Amino acid sequence: MTDPLVDPGASADELAFEGALRPTSLAEFVGQPKVKGQLEVLLQAARLQDRAPDHILLAGPPGLGKTTLATIIGAETGRPIRYSSGPAIQHAGDLAAVLSALVPGEVLFIDEIHRMSRAAEEMLYLAMEDFRVDIMVGKGAGASSIPLELAPFTLVGATTRSGMLPAPLRDRFGFTAHLEFYETADLERVLARSSRLMELYIEPAALAELAGRSRGTPRIANRLLRRVRDWLLVHAGSSDLDGVRAALELYDVDEAGLDRIDRAVLHTIAHRFAGGPVGLSTLAAAIGEEADTIESVVEPFLVREGLIGRTPRGRVATPTGMRHARADTAPGYSGDTTLDGV
Ligand code: ADP
Repeated sequence: MTDPLVDPGASADELAFEGALRPTSLAEFVGQPKVKGQLEVLLQAARLQDRAPDHILLAGPPGLGKTTLATIIGAETGRPIRYSSGPAIQHAGDLAAVLSALVPGEVLFIDEIHRMSRAAEEMLYLAMEDFRVDIMVGKGAGASSIPLELAPFTLVGATTRSGMLPAPLRDRFGFTAHLEFYETADLERVLARSSRLMELYIEPAALAELAGRSRGTPRIANRLLRRVRDWLLVHAGSSDLDGVRAALELYDVDEAGLDRIDRAVLHTIAHRFAGGPVGLSTLAAAIGEEADTIESVVEPFLVREGLIGRTPRGRVATPTGMRHARADTAPGYSGDTTLDGV
């Protein structure tokens, strides 16, 4: 199981909390200057011509603001927005039901669009291009298709795995935004805004420390802030650097923002496989984690931090990664002692 504290996916009870902290305009959306600039032009051009914006694909690791941007696209263009997700669209009929209910100009957000079924994907091609779908009725020789006109809409797709999207689907988006991990300074701004909204005062140095341990991810920054709030409440502690460090120590987040699973991956490569290379499936089996979680959540962060590298023969620990693994004396992660049991 991924550590719930630094898993960049949102849990159910977190969604309400996140809703309250979600920026509602591009101006409020912190960081990602390139994507913001691109979207500003795209949305303004659509507004000037009084038409629906082109279909937009938002790509990047979880927790970086894809759902937030979709909501902002709806708000900035004054259009209603409907939320759906790839896993909820497993049959072409599921998609037909969603599409036929759209009102003219509506924004349709499909999260995890790479997890839609192939049949639904093919239906979506025509819908995106011609605002029409063909509904199949009957089976075998007696089957026929009935064309159904749709209201014009803007599709906003989100994916953590843009490489998994078939080219015909990727090509039908007028614009693809690639979200990057956030700089620490931007995360400080996210945290300053969130603590203001939560009516919580945290000293600037302590906010900077939190930002540095948030894996470049706003969702994790907000989650750590919530844990610090609890810690301060229970310990009647002071909201300074020491308070934040004590809270984070309790939750096993190290100075570089690495959590248990990050450290397990790093230690396994460094100690058990002598620095690598080691294949993804072997690594996943050694740790008892889903290969998909390692590939889409853990690896992008560890690669970005320069702690591991990907080679054609597998994952390797970099010299920095080896040093980090040697220096890390957190209980359970020194060497391969505890990992032998998995
Ligand atoms: P994703 O859809 O990519 O998984 P979300 O859009 O749900 O991520 O973002 C997770 C949370 O992080 C949101 O609730 C929001 O509060 C916060 N967040 C994300 N991006 C930003 C940003 N650029 N500025 C401020 N807060 C952000």
